[in-house]
Amino acid sequence: MGLIRFLMFAGVALLVYLIYRRFVAAPMRSHFEHKEDERLGRLVQDPNCGVYVDSRDAVRRKVRGGELYFCSRACAKTYFKEQRGG
Ligand SMILES: [Zn+2]
Repeated sequence: MGLIRFLMFAGVALLVYLIYRRFVAAPMRSHFEHKEDERLGRLVQDPNCGVYVDSRDAVRRKVRGGELYFCSRACAKTYFKEQRGG
């Protein structure tokens, strides 16, 4: 019986599969997920810190003539404070 040989082969195959998943399949999947996000959302720039954020996740503030998007409420607060104070 080549049971031990079979188990060794199965072990090697499993190892190869795990390595494949770790280094090939996983990065590819995250790449596709990123593409999907770009299609659904819209990148908008935070006027305070200059960071680009997804419009769905952004903190919105209505202003004259439109809407501003911020990465956080702290950024929105800082931005309007500077607008007022000069
Ligand atoms: Zn910001």
